[in-house]
Amino acid sequence: MTPGPIPLFAFDNTYARELDGFYARVTPSSFPKPGLQLLNEPLARELGLDVEALRAQAAEVLSGSRVPEGAEPLAQAYAGHQFGGLSPQLGDGRALLLGELIDTQGRRRDLHLKGSGRTPFSRGGDGLAALGPVLREYILGEAMHHLGIPTTRALAAVSTGASVRREGMLPGGVLARVAASHIRVGTFQFFAIRDDTDRVQQLVRYTLARHYPDQREASNPALALLNAAIDAQARLIARWMLVGFIHGVMNTDNMTLSGETIDYGPCAFMDAYSPGTVFSSIDQRGRYAYGNQPGIGQWNLARLAEALLPLLHADEPKAIELAQEALAAYPVAYTKAWLGGMRQKLGLVGDQDATAAPAASDEEDGGLAEAFLSLLEAQQVDFTNAFRSLSSALRGDTGKARALYRDPSAFDAWSRSWHARLAAGGLVLTDDAEKAARAAHMDRVNPLYIARNHKVEEALAAGVRGDLGPTEQLLAVLAQPFDERPGLEAYAVPAPSAFTEIYQTFCGT
Ligand code: AMP
Ligand code: MG
Repeated sequence: MTPGPIPLFAFDNTYARELDGFYARVTPSSFPKPGLQLLNEPLARELGLDVEALRAQAAEVLSGSRVPEGAEPLAQAYAGHQFGGLSPQLGDGRALLLGELIDTQGRRRDLHLKGSGRTPFSRGGDGLAALGPVLREYILGEAMHHLGIPTTRALAAVSTGASVRREGMLPGGVLARVAASHIRVGTFQFFAIRDDTDRVQQLVRYTLARHYPDQREASNPALALLNAAIDAQARLIARWMLVGFIHGVMNTDNMTLSGETIDYGPCAFMDAYSPGTVFSSIDQRGRYAYGNQPGIGQWNLARLAEALLPLLHADEPKAIELAQEALAAYPVAYTKAWLGGMRQKLGLVGDQDATAAPAASDEEDGGLAEAFLSLLEAQQVDFTNAFRSLSSALRGDTGKARALYRDPSAFDAWSRSWHARLAAGGLVLTDDAEKAARAAHMDRVNPLYIARNHKVEEALAAGVRGDLGPTEQLLAVLAQPFDERPGLEAYAVPAPSAFTEIYQTFCGT
């Protein structure tokens, strides 16, 4: 027998094999003229793929037009609370799982297509995606990844050659997405609300083995999973808050068990610091406003706890007690992660003493951080630039920082207490080398370049016209968010306020 061509992917499909009843098998749509728009080569290499072979076949294979060898396309079932109301049947309505890959570091990753046609979960939808939102998810996911925040990532963006009907006719696209898994809080809810406790149990075992293998032998697996999910989400949402990220649609079907950020729809980065910031056109009451995200995280995890309740304990009052105890750990874990991050952003800890006990109490350091945020809010200062400017201030050049404030004397006053705290922590303020080292440390946690809304929109507008140049340039900038590079000044300034005041983001569905 002559060997055939080497398959593009070495799929191993545990979801299909072990979770019968959790999905529907689907045949992806075949598109008339698929065209590769973007290929994430570093990610392809991380997945152990042959980049050149993939490039040659990506348009066909990553649009779903040709099912690659070894793939078992399936649409996953899930439910979810959307804006607080339960939708018992959502599921992959315009997406499918092609299969799982083991990456070069031994991690199992889903390869998933979004916009690949109708499925049994499509309800009234067309199963399609427009190219603009596909590019948007690509850009935002990469931005988050390079900020060090757990996230799904785009492997490719493909245009379909067909139009989709939205607010008009728009060019269609498919996003090839890589995730630790696509198991969501809503996946558990789907079976829990159908009283299918056996399937919830099966999903608990599968999820523990896949994401928290050290907990696999736990005496109470559902409780171990709940605790792990609570901890992962607390840390994730703290990371969002520390970079000014607003997810925009934190429904329970958009919250993963792996702790990765997922489903970049109407998300955006905040410019001027304001906890009430909302960009999403459909979030009219501000449920998913920037400042509400930590609380919504806990609300969603309470829905997970509810779904797991019959498995936590046979006796319901006891089960509720266990759930409440577990959920009580969320604000503690969140505050710990947030405060740890703030200490880094403010330079209160250096590289060498990251594990050492801080020199001031949590209350004191929390107070210092909150005072800074209040100052930003009162003077409508750009969140990203305010933190970034602190390293210059520490080096002795306060001009950059002070220029951000309408009333710089308020900054000066805060800065005095900041310096006092730095000194109390052992930083020798007369030692320039020591200050420079600390400032350099701050520059590795306070990004200079984020996905600025006007830059994203500029890139998307060109991208849907077939000019990927601005998108590629933006991706290159965002790939090194901490490294100042000459010529990129325009990427580090907030949008004009006239832009931000009317800026709205859309789900793109
Ligand atoms: P999302 O807002 O993208 O998280 O999607 C919420 C739900 O709507 C999921 O079940 C999606 O699969 C489904 N959905 C969104 N857009 C479409 C579409 N164009 N066709 C079919 N289903 C869709
Ligand atoms: Mg979703």
